[in-house]
Amino acid sequence: MPRSEAHGPGRIDNLSPDQRRAAMQAVRSQNTRPELLVRQTAHRMGLRFRLGRCDLPGSPDLVFPRYRLAVFVHGCFWHTHTGCSRATTPRTRLDYWLPKFARTVERDARAEEALKRMGWKVLVLWECSLRDVPELERQLARATHGRD
Ligand SMILES: [Zn+2]
Repeated sequence: MPRSEAHGPGRIDNLSPDQRRAAMQAVRSQNTRPELLVRQTAHRMGLRFRLGRCDLPGSPDLVFPRYRLAVFVHGCFWHTHTGCSRATTPRTRLDYWLPKFARTVERDARAEEALKRMGWKVLVLWECSLRDVPELERQLARATHGRD
C-alpha cells in the first residue's frame, strides 16, 4: 500500500464538506515525513531555516532567510505533480476532486508568483523526489548557492 494512501479519498469521502475541509487542513499542517526529511537534510548541511512562516504567501514549509529562499514540500497527490504516478485522480466524485486539484495548483502558482515579486526564490520539492537524498542535497545546495 502506498504511503500516501492514508491521505487518499477513501478516508475522507464520507465526511460533510466542513469536516472534509477540517481534515484537509489537518493533513496540511501535520509534520509530514517528507517535510521532516527536508528539515533533517538542511540541518545536516548546516543551513539555517525557519518554519511556519504563515505570513508569507502560500505559507512555505521552510524558509531560509539568509538566502531569501522559500521551500515548499508538495505531496504529489494533492498538488498534482505532472507526469507523476502518485498524482492519480480518484475514480469517483470527479465533480468534487477535479476543481479541488485545479484550485490547489492555481493557489500554488499564485503563491510562487507573489513570493518572487517580493524577492524570494522558490524551491518546490516533490514528495516523490525525496527518496533520492543526494539529489535533495544537490537541490538545496543549488538553491542556497551564491550567498555566503
Ligand atoms: Zn511526484
